[in-house]
Amino acid sequence: MDLKKKAKELVAQMTLEEKAKLTSGASFWSSEGVERLGLKRQTMTDGPHGLRKQTATADNLGLNDSIPSTCFPTASATACSFDRKLMYRMGESLGEKCLREDVAVILGPGVNMKRSPLCGRNFEYFSEDPFVAGEMAAAMINGIQSKGVGTSLKHFAVNSQESHRMTMNEVVDERALREIYLPAFETAVKRSRPWTVMCSYNRINGEYADVNRKLLTDILRNEWGYDGVVVSDWGAVSNKVRDIKSGMNLEMPGIPDGADKRIIEGVKKGEITEEEVDSIVVKTVEMILKAQEEKIRSRRTERDDDADALLVAESSAVLLKNEEEILPLKKDRKIAFIGRMAKKRRYQGAGSSRINPSYLDNVFDEAVSAGLKVRYADGYTEDGREVDQTLIDEAVKLAKDSDVVCLFAGLSDAYESEGYDRTTMAMPESHLKLIEAVAKANPDTVVILQLGSPVELPFKDKVKGLLLSYLSGQAGGRATVKILTGEVNPSGRLAETWPKRLSDTPAFESYPGKGLNAFHRESIYIGYRYYDKAGAEVEYPFGYGLSYTSFEYSDPEADALGNNRFKVRFKVKNTGKLAGSHAVLLFTGRKEEGVVFRPVKELKGFEKVTLEPGESTTVEFELDERAFSYFNTETKDWAIEGGTYVISAGDLKAEVELSGDGKEKLLEEKMKKLPTYRHPSCPFKVSDGEFEILYGEKLPSDRREPGTPFDINNTLYDIKDTFIGKIIIKAAGGMLKQYASDPAMRAMVEAMMFEMPLRSLRMSGTLTYNRILGIVDMANKKPLKGIWKLIRK
Ligand code: BGC
Repeated sequence: MDLKKKAKELVAQMTLEEKAKLTSGASFWSSEGVERLGLKRQTMTDGPHGLRKQTATADNLGLNDSIPSTCFPTASATACSFDRKLMYRMGESLGEKCLREDVAVILGPGVNMKRSPLCGRNFEYFSEDPFVAGEMAAAMINGIQSKGVGTSLKHFAVNSQESHRMTMNEVVDERALREIYLPAFETAVKRSRPWTVMCSYNRINGEYADVNRKLLTDILRNEWGYDGVVVSDWGAVSNKVRDIKSGMNLEMPGIPDGADKRIIEGVKKGEITEEEVDSIVVKTVEMILKAQEEKIRSRRTERDDDADALLVAESSAVLLKNEEEILPLKKDRKIAFIGRMAKKRRYQGAGSSRINPSYLDNVFDEAVSAGLKVRYADGYTEDGREVDQTLIDEAVKLAKDSDVVCLFAGLSDAYESEGYDRTTMAMPESHLKLIEAVAKANPDTVVILQLGSPVELPFKDKVKGLLLSYLSGQAGGRATVKILTGEVNPSGRLAETWPKRLSDTPAFESYPGKGLNAFHRESIYIGYRYYDKAGAEVEYPFGYGLSYTSFEYSDPEADALGNNRFKVRFKVKNTGKLAGSHAVLLFTGRKEEGVVFRPVKELKGFEKVTLEPGESTTVEFELDERAFSYFNTETKDWAIEGGTYVISAGDLKAEVELSGDGKEKLLEEKMKKLPTYRHPSCPFKVSDGEFEILYGEKLPSDRREPGTPFDINNTLYDIKDTFIGKIIIKAAGGMLKQYASDPAMRAMVEAMMFEMPLRSLRMSGTLTYNRILGIVDMANKKPLKGIWKLIRK
């Protein structure tokens, strides 16, 4: 029977109480069910580069144990593979794992845009470019869901910073929203129909994501045709009753403190109708029915998944520099492996996505197994906080006595994590000093980087090789050795720009937002869209990546298919001596400046090919009208400014003529008032006035007006000077002591605690919603009312 129909019939048989219950989870990791109607609770667990299924103490920060699961490379790495088939396969692997563990929905992937390299969670996101993020996510979701397991596309939307992520108001103009922050979600929704979409914590232009009807209903459902469940990020519900009106289906986690009663009261008071509750609940019921359908389980094991994790790691690494063909390593040479990370790799990031790997390799042991003559020196201590001169001296001695050095460096755990942002793009001083000393002692040095996002590379010209592993998962050691020795030919290309320095980044002046707002002053100019337009020099551009062979493009052809659609094809030839894979990236851009300011070029297609030496193939792309459009803020629709457009791939270029709709005329006057956006400079600076014109409304105030009463959306930090605030902070301080030995964890928990809105204290399990209202009363100097709510059962 059609599940939609069945879901409707089941909802029609439910009491209001049952329906109200279904709007929240049953526990930290499961949705609610209605046993009498055969609807069971369903497990949802974190991921998405593995499975974080917790069987004992639950948490959403990666604090407590989870079952062993194959740890794949994280999204910043996998995006560099530009390989949809591989993402699909990774998805299948994850889906099978979910079936083995009775998990109905895996929470991911995340497609937020990398607005700044500083975002602590960049390692979990694919790119600064919505096209590649959307395509890779769709492939992964299709792979997972092909097994009958659901996904959660997250974090919808504009969750671009970790600092104050639970309350931050992301102030973003409509074009940037439509052209940059939403399209990856749109692609994934349209192409892969994720069972769930997870709304983010933050506010978007004044409205929290969970009550943002414009996003959750007008855009997601009405425009994009989304038909699934919107689940809240853990603790992201700001208003349970308004959620129903806005299109939010399922509050997670489930906290037994009367959330269902608030829905029932809402219906009784006429704030919402029972029909509205029905339309929200029916989606969750359909999801449960899908989860309960019979599934085909294969005989896959963790070993098979590990093999896939290796494949993904091999295809994701990016070779950035290979002077004098220092790589691949010649086996008979005396090789030094320097840096703790050769033995204790950094292979994933911290926070809710932290996987307990089923197996973990390291580069040193793998190199020995591969028959390399390799000797080792630590070079720096594990946390890398202090420069250790003795370790550097030992490393220098080894370097001098070796033919070639492989130096492993990057960012240690405490540098990047969910929950907080980095403050600098610098690598730890201990790593930098080591690289400088070793490269001086032996210029035949290759640096291998393990990190989740770009860093400044002051040593780039002093070393001969640079290989970027990103966070390569549990099999990354083997992948690295295979690439270093040439058994695997590297084929990754950067899915984000590596800027030269932090001050060159477009959001430098406004990232992260520190007051109440994160002003997206740079608008559509994030990543390469900015560096290209501003003519800023970068360390490595988007799409950069070397191979041990070479590829050439030729014979471009573009056929007009009518209605501003085109078919583009050209030849790709492997002109080198080794077999290899290569991702072709296709961009479009308007040839001349038009009325509407635009990036120079934007990615609109990619395809990965594998070729033997001398072999060639033809790649073909179809570009529709959307590949040339901008979002017109007057007509609230996609529009085409007529004229000549350039389609490019590498050095190949083809020009095509597009017929326009003339809608840009409506924007002419406004565009004249936005000179900075037409000619952005580096560093990027724009006045409040000009940004306000772009935004189209008065910019919101960035601080709480003194005397404004506190509410449940205020944070512990906001109430720190009140009597009750001081008591809670003291208690919280005591709790933090247990993380003394793990600085990354401590920093994350601390940020979470202080930046969390009071309403989210419910997740602690000790404070109910009513008690939190009591805390708010006390903070507002209404002690009697407050105490009454605190002590009342
Ligand atoms: C994270 C989500 C995660 C959830 C559950 C939240 O803090 O933002 O990505 O899925 O916790 O652990």
